Amino acid sequence: MSLLSIEDIVVEFPTRRGPLEAVKNLTLNLEEGQILGLVGESGAGKSITAAAITGLIEPPGYIRAGQILLDGKRIDNLPREQMRRIRGRQIGSIFQDPLTSLNPVYTVGEQLVDTMQVNLGLSKKEARVRGIKWLTDVGIPAPELRFNQYPHQFSGGMRQRVVIALALCSEPKLIIADEPTTALDVSVQAQILALLRRLCREHNTAVVLVTHDMGVIAETADRVVVMYAGRLVEIGDVAQVIKAPLHPYSRGLMNSIPQVGAPAHRLTQIAGAMPGLRNPAPGCAFAPRCSKAMEICSVSRPSITLKGDTRVACFLYEGDEQ
Ligand code: SF4
Ligand code: MG
Repeated sequence: MSLLSIEDIVVEFPTRRGPLEAVKNLTLNLEEGQILGLVGESGAGKSITAAAITGLIEPPGYIRAGQILLDGKRIDNLPREQMRRIRGRQIGSIFQDPLTSLNPVYTVGEQLVDTMQVNLGLSKKEARVRGIKWLTDVGIPAPELRFNQYPHQFSGGMRQRVVIALALCSEPKLIIADEPTTALDVSVQAQILALLRRLCREHNTAVVLVTHDMGVIAETADRVVVMYAGRLVEIGDVAQVIKAPLHPYSRGLMNSIPQVGAPAHRLTQIAGAMPGLRNPAPGCAFAPRCSKAMEICSVSRPSITLKGDTRVACFLYEGDEQ
């Protein structure tokens, strides 16, 4: 049994001009301790998928179809209060802006202690000892002193380290990290990703890592899901997808990883923009931008084909299932 199973979910936003499907028939599994990257451009449905897992889809959006299971138990249809408890104990969150996760009026120590008292039932004294250990483990110098400081007294990178400590201190099985390093300086990004990876390995914590940056996936994830216009277009082992991306969109994302010594550019290799989610065209959503598009691509939608250990939704591979 997988730690997390997303089974054929559709996330819909009713609008005055009709329903808009932000995530379409998404199915994926995540195993214990595994780091799964969700990558794609803005609007691909990555963050909404993350929000669906944590029960935090902004109303009026909702999961219209499918189900989400954590440890074999359905979590997509739970009452709000029960889901809030799961978010505390079983699923931790790390967002782009550390200040979303930190309360400005409490010291970081108070926040760590409070979180562990509520979620692990520790005494204040035990929680304090563990809190200082967490600050040490996430690489914060002078942890005893920093324990008594407020979030605004930390730099952006140090604050994100505190957020990682806060997310992990409840010993969740799963962390949802949505663009955790996007707001940070490039020099700090790699350190934070390495830290997240090391700690999740040590604690056997699984991660769903949402990013628009294939470079982040390459450095951090074990498996990757490439999303485009609300759909999964490719899923496979990171090493494999990076070495030989199958879907033309994944290839474009790979080409957008800045090369050492070359000026950084993002997704500039893929001309055109993602189509709007309203009134989707009948064929493959990537067809207008795809240099490999064939006649069939604009009339019908490719289904998911297994190619080696990778699954890909593209007509280039249909028929040669291996
Ligand atoms: Fe390109 Fe056709 Fe594959 Fe879509 S299905 S990615 S248009 S080749
Ligand atoms: Mg997003």
